[in-house]
Amino acid sequence: MFQVNADVIAKEEVIPGVFSLTIVSPVISENAKPGQFVHIACNQGGNFILRRPFSIHRIVPGKAFEILFRVVGRGTEALSRVKVYDILDVIGPLGNGFKYSERITSALLVAGGLGLAPLLYLAEELTNEQVKFYPMLGAQTKTKLLRYIDFKRIGKKTYVATDDGSSGHNGTVADLLNRTIHYIRPEIIYACGPEPMLRKVAQTADEFGVKCQVSLETKMACGVGVCLGCACVTRQGYKMVCKDGPVFDARDIIWDKEEIEPTLLGGYRCETAKVSDPG
Ligand SMILES: Cc1cc2nc3c(=O)[nH]c(=O)nc-3n(C[C@H](O)[C@H](O)[C@H](O)COP(=O)(O)OP(=O)(O)OC[C@H]3O[C@@H](n4cnc5c(N)ncnc54)[C@H](O)[C@@H]3O)c2cc1C
Repeated sequence: MFQVNADVIAKEEVIPGVFSLTIVSPVISENAKPGQFVHIACNQGGNFILRRPFSIHRIVPGKAFEILFRVVGRGTEALSRVKVYDILDVIGPLGNGFKYSERITSALLVAGGLGLAPLLYLAEELTNEQVKFYPMLGAQTKTKLLRYIDFKRIGKKTYVATDDGSSGHNGTVADLLNRTIHYIRPEIIYACGPEPMLRKVAQTADEFGVKCQVSLETKMACGVGVCLGCACVTRQGYKMVCKDGPVFDARDIIWDKEEIEPTLLGGYRCETAKVSDPG
């Protein structure tokens, strides 16, 4: 983990409200793994107490990394106003990324919306390892389907689902997975997206006996496992998304609170800790 003052060398508004920034940091780009994230002070010396987490989206080897983000609130709005040649205070790479090896026979990468951010980096690494993989991308509508060409260029076959049917399967990416998993027959699924989608993906993977790793995007504060603000409940008890994750084996996650045994958590009913206002 490094803290750097890093130059922004490229910025693009990919579609309205979604931006990419390329940030120079040889130490972060050399040490990063797919699924890890960076924690960024969203305005330089401004009035935000907390950093905001973003997945590493792509690497320029030995030099820089790219993030892809949607403006949803104050932090991301401030970040969207950053200009090329501005300097950002960045900590990273953080967390535990996806586990993979060249021995995987075939992988399925399931992305819901901006959940594709860490999966493109993973896709590029799987390509380097000569692992056959199938991207499956979900978006609300065709115009919000991002990085399709990039995935299609390196994936074996790219599947698409849109909520309004404007491209590919008419429905969610989790539904599409459910309909196609029996003939794609992947050895492993890697998924990132909103929690309801991840829960369905995990359920499908479980039904078909396919291994599955999910990247959780829980709200977080410190990013290094100190504040306990991003706790999630697993079969081994509480885990911190920032330090133990954000990538977890889907079978370890307890998705339904009803399933939680009080004994698992030392006799306490579990309520996942929440950061109400990240500040
Ligand atoms: C490990 C990790 C990796 C992430 N990677 C990316 C990424 O690559 N691209 C990207 O666009 N976003 C990513 N996120 C989410 C991103 O960090 C949040 O969108 C951001 O922190 C919001 O800050 P804000 O100040 O703009 O919004 P806030 O003012 O804090 O919140 C605005 C709204 O967004 C919701 N929100 C805030 N944080 C999250 C969150 N983590 N998950 C879901 N809803 C949230 C709030 O409930 C609220 O409704 C990631 C989160 C984590 C934990």
